[in-house]
Amino acid sequence: MIVIICALLAVGAIGFTLLVRERDIPPAPVENPELKHLETRRQVLYENLKDLQFEYLQGKLSEADYQSVKSGFLNDLAGVMASIEQLLSGKEMAGKEAAAREPVAPQGPASKGPGGSVICSACGAENPGQHRFCGQCGAALSESLAE
Ligand SMILES: [Zn+2]
Repeated sequence: MIVIICALLAVGAIGFTLLVRERDIPPAPVENPELKHLETRRQVLYENLKDLQFEYLQGKLSEADYQSVKSGFLNDLAGVMASIEQLLSGKEMAGKEAAAREPVAPQGPASKGPGGSVICSACGAENPGQHRFCGQCGAALSESLAE
Protein backbone atom coordinates (compact mmCIF):
# COMPACT_ATOMS: atom_id res chain seq x y z
CA MET A 1 0.00 0.00 0.00
CA ILE A 2 2.78 2.41 0.96
CA VAL A 3 4.59 1.58 -2.26
CA ILE A 4 1.52 2.58 -4.27
CA ILE A 5 1.16 5.86 -2.36
CA CYS A 6 4.84 6.60 -2.92
CA ALA A 7 4.48 5.85 -6.60
CA LEU A 8 1.45 8.11 -6.88
CA LEU A 9 3.27 10.90 -5.06
CA ALA A 10 6.25 10.52 -7.36
CA VAL A 11 4.07 10.63 -10.45
CA GLY A 12 2.27 13.65 -9.03
CA ALA A 13 5.53 15.43 -8.32
CA ILE A 14 6.84 14.75 -11.81
CA GLY A 15 3.57 15.92 -13.33
CA PHE A 16 3.64 19.08 -11.24
CA THR A 17 7.23 19.81 -12.25
CA LEU A 18 6.38 19.35 -15.91
CA LEU A 19 3.41 21.70 -15.61
CA VAL A 20 5.47 24.38 -13.90
CA ARG A 21 8.29 23.98 -16.39
CA GLU A 22 5.88 24.35 -19.26
CA ARG A 23 4.59 27.59 -17.79
CA ASP A 24 8.14 28.88 -17.33
CA ILE A 25 8.83 28.63 -21.03
CA PRO A 26 8.59 32.09 -22.63
CA PRO A 27 5.26 32.70 -24.39
CA ALA A 28 6.72 33.37 -27.83
CA PRO A 29 7.67 30.06 -29.41
CA VAL A 30 10.73 30.39 -31.61
CA GLU A 31 9.70 28.33 -34.58
CA ASN A 32 10.49 30.96 -37.17
CA PRO A 33 14.05 30.32 -38.42
CA GLU A 34 14.46 33.99 -39.24
CA LEU A 35 13.43 34.97 -35.74
CA LYS A 36 15.73 32.35 -34.27
CA HIS A 37 18.58 33.73 -36.36
CA LEU A 38 17.82 37.26 -35.15
CA GLU A 39 17.63 36.14 -31.53
CA THR A 40 21.01 34.49 -31.91
CA ARG A 41 22.48 37.63 -33.44
CA ARG A 42 21.07 39.72 -30.64
CA GLN A 43 22.63 37.36 -28.11
CA VAL A 44 25.99 37.54 -29.89
CA LEU A 45 25.85 41.33 -29.99
CA TYR A 46 25.10 41.46 -26.27
CA GLU A 47 28.09 39.20 -25.64
CA ASN A 48 30.28 41.38 -27.83
CA LEU A 49 29.16 44.48 -25.99
CA LYS A 50 29.94 42.83 -22.66
CA ASP A 51 33.38 41.77 -23.88
CA LEU A 52 34.02 45.22 -25.27
CA GLN A 53 33.08 46.86 -22.00
CA PHE A 54 35.27 44.40 -20.13
CA GLU A 55 38.27 45.14 -22.35
CA TYR A 56 37.68 48.84 -22.05
CA LEU A 57 37.54 48.61 -18.26
CA GLN A 58 40.80 46.67 -18.35
CA GLY A 59 42.40 49.52 -20.28
CA LYS A 60 42.91 47.49 -23.47
CA LEU A 61 40.92 49.97 -25.53
CA SER A 62 41.10 53.70 -25.90
CA GLU A 63 38.02 55.75 -25.17
CA ALA A 64 37.65 56.62 -28.87
CA ASP A 65 37.97 52.99 -29.99
CA TYR A 66 35.55 51.86 -27.36
CA GLN A 67 32.96 54.45 -28.30
CA SER A 68 33.19 53.82 -32.04
CA VAL A 69 33.04 50.04 -31.74
CA LYS A 70 30.28 50.29 -29.17
CA SER A 71 28.17 52.56 -31.32
CA GLY A 72 28.62 50.12 -34.18
CA PHE A 73 27.36 47.26 -32.01
CA LEU A 74 24.47 49.35 -30.73
CA ASN A 75 23.57 50.22 -34.29
CA ASP A 76 23.52 46.55 -35.26
CA LEU A 77 21.60 45.73 -32.13
CA ALA A 78 18.97 48.36 -32.89
CA GLY A 79 18.58 46.93 -36.37
CA VAL A 80 18.22 43.40 -35.04
CA MET A 81 15.70 44.50 -32.41
CA ALA A 82 13.68 46.36 -35.03
CA SER A 83 13.64 43.28 -37.25
CA ILE A 84 12.54 41.09 -34.34
CA GLU A 85 9.77 43.52 -33.45
CA GLN A 86 8.69 43.67 -37.05
CA LEU A 87 8.51 39.89 -37.23
CA LEU A 88 6.59 39.64 -33.97
CA SER A 89 4.17 42.45 -34.76
CA GLY A 90 3.64 40.99 -38.21
CA LYS A 91 2.57 37.75 -36.58
CA GLU A 92 0.27 39.56 -34.18
CA MET A 93 -1.29 41.58 -36.99
CA ALA A 94 -2.02 38.43 -38.95
CA GLY A 95 -3.88 37.08 -35.93
CA LYS A 96 -5.75 40.27 -35.15
CA GLU A 97 -6.69 41.05 -38.72
CA ALA A 98 -9.53 38.54 -38.71
CA ALA A 99 -10.93 39.90 -35.44
CA ALA A 100 -11.19 43.61 -36.15
CA ARG A 101 -9.53 46.17 -38.35
CA GLU A 102 -9.12 49.47 -36.60
CA PRO A 103 -10.06 52.33 -38.87
CA VAL A 104 -7.23 54.77 -39.43
CA ALA A 105 -8.17 58.19 -38.13
CA PRO A 106 -8.04 60.81 -40.88
CA GLN A 107 -5.31 63.36 -40.36
CA GLY A 108 -5.38 67.07 -41.05
CA PRO A 109 -6.65 70.34 -39.61
CA ALA A 110 -10.19 70.40 -38.30
CA SER A 111 -11.09 73.32 -40.54
CA LYS A 112 -10.89 71.08 -43.59
CA GLY A 113 -14.04 69.42 -44.85
CA PRO A 114 -14.57 65.71 -45.51
CA GLY A 115 -12.09 64.15 -47.92
CA GLY A 116 -9.50 66.85 -47.25
CA SER A 117 -11.50 69.51 -49.11
CA VAL A 118 -11.85 73.13 -48.07
CA ILE A 119 -15.15 74.97 -48.23
CA CYS A 120 -14.72 78.53 -49.49
CA SER A 121 -16.01 80.95 -46.91
CA ALA A 122 -16.82 83.50 -49.64
CA CYS A 123 -18.84 81.46 -52.14
CA GLY A 124 -19.26 78.09 -50.49
CA ALA A 125 -17.52 76.16 -53.26
CA GLU A 126 -15.64 73.00 -52.36
CA ASN A 127 -11.91 73.08 -53.16
CA PRO A 128 -9.18 70.45 -52.80
CA GLY A 129 -7.37 70.77 -49.48
CA GLN A 130 -4.05 71.75 -51.02
CA HIS A 131 -5.50 74.74 -52.89
CA ARG A 132 -4.73 78.11 -51.37
CA PHE A 133 -7.30 80.06 -53.37
CA CYS A 134 -10.87 79.24 -54.29
CA GLY A 135 -11.27 77.90 -57.83
CA GLN A 136 -14.68 79.63 -58.12
CA CYS A 137 -14.16 83.12 -56.78
CA GLY A 138 -10.44 83.33 -56.11
CA ALA A 139 -10.80 84.11 -52.41
CA ALA A 140 -7.89 83.01 -50.22
CA LEU A 141 -8.70 79.64 -48.66
CA SER A 142 -5.70 79.50 -46.35
CA GLU A 143 -6.80 82.62 -44.46
CA SER A 144 -8.27 80.68 -41.57
CA LEU A 145 -5.28 78.33 -41.45
CA ALA A 146 -2.55 80.99 -41.67
CA GLU A 147 -0.45 81.46 -38.53
ZN1 LIG B 1 -15.02 80.92 -53.46
